[in-house]
Amino acid sequence: MNFTDFGFTTELQNGLDAMGFNKPTPIQEMAIPIIQEGHDLIACAQTGTGKTAAYVLPILDRIARSDHSHLNTLIIAPTRELAQQIDQQIEGFSYFLQVSSIPIYGGGDGMIWEQQKRALREGADIIIATPGRLLSMMASDDVNFEYLQHLILDEADRMLDMGFYDDILRIIKMLPAKHQTLLFSATMPQKIQTIASKILKHPKQISLATSQPAEKIHQEFYFVNMDQKLPMTIDILKNPAYESIIIFSSSKENTKKLNTDLKKAGVKASAFHSDLEQKEREELMRNFKSRNIRVLVGTDVLSRGIDVEGVSLVINYDAPHDPEDYIHRIGRTARAEESGVAITLITQNDFQRFQRIEKLIGKTLLPSPLPEHIGVSPVFNSTTRSKRPQRKPASKGNGSTSNNRKPNG
Ligand code: ADP
Ligand code: MG
Repeated sequence: MNFTDFGFTTELQNGLDAMGFNKPTPIQEMAIPIIQEGHDLIACAQTGTGKTAAYVLPILDRIARSDHSHLNTLIIAPTRELAQQIDQQIEGFSYFLQVSSIPIYGGGDGMIWEQQKRALREGADIIIATPGRLLSMMASDDVNFEYLQHLILDEADRMLDMGFYDDILRIIKMLPAKHQTLLFSATMPQKIQTIASKILKHPKQISLATSQPAEKIHQEFYFVNMDQKLPMTIDILKNPAYESIIIFSSSKENTKKLNTDLKKAGVKASAFHSDLEQKEREELMRNFKSRNIRVLVGTDVLSRGIDVEGVSLVINYDAPHDPEDYIHRIGRTARAEESGVAITLITQNDFQRFQRIEKLIGKTLLPSPLPEHIGVSPVFNSTTRSKRPQRKPASKGNGSTSNNRKPNG
């Protein structure tokens, strides 16, 4: 299948060509015709599969064909970074179209607030907004939704995790009753089904295997003691083959600490966390994308939805809290056409998390041996292993039921 099969306007097709989009991804192939037919849609596909273009393209096409002079489409996204990214993609696709978009997000200074307000007053075809900021804008200024035709909830799972459920319902109450609603999510927990049943009308559903990391990601696990984490990480970072690296830690505090520890060890790194000013965050992302920054340390804020292309390595310095986060994090590498590496450090305390990742992925993951100078991997004891179903003793073997996991090698 080709993008030309969707029958987009020549200008939009030219935009696609300019962006280097040749073949639709599976989610795009499935979602675009459904959206073109005007159905509501719930689409579930893992991070990095091209969900943005799946909804942006048919909507841009429809706007371009219409006599558009009113706000047509509202896209709600969980974070400002994501809102900006969606806005940038729209700008790229609509390079040859007369379609305008505005991102509306919190943070930043009063000037940004004023700029967003002014842009809103001047009007746009598409608003990409974070829920909180949109509500404050709507409270202080009239946003005219009278002609709204499309509502998109992007990263719906993330928005619910972040507690935006009520905000979203409040926003939806202010929209005209008749519009097409599209819900995109990387995972489909029950609570998404619940919200979907409230706000979508006879939706079509697409679900592509959600809990498998992209095949092109090479995954490695190391069992380590706490005090081996830092030396092991420094060791990994010495490999010049990794040109662009994200290190995930579990909290803002750990992010700052790790950043400092790396600096002390002579590793150039930058920390990305919520204490930074909006401007600083944007600058960090820009420098990371342009390869001026090689190592970026951050929390799961970095893991969902943010499109950083060509990350060669993801290190899970702290094991992800829930297994879906593992998929999201390592989804930062091996985007679209590329391949990448994901390395996860597991301590005794993380062992159950490790088992949950195994369960989600549906296979047994073998730890790699540590380099000699880092020391020996700990062997996790059977109390931590007891959750795992015990294998029956082999009939003629030594009868051992121990499945203590030892590092191989
Ligand atoms: P998701 O929202 O599913 O996480 P994105 O929409 O952010 O994924 O897309 C991931 C990356 O893949 C982006 O860099 C995007 O530009 C790129 N991409 C998406 N679709 C295509 C395509 N059909 N051809 C080439 N690149 C694509
Ligand atoms: Mg996305």
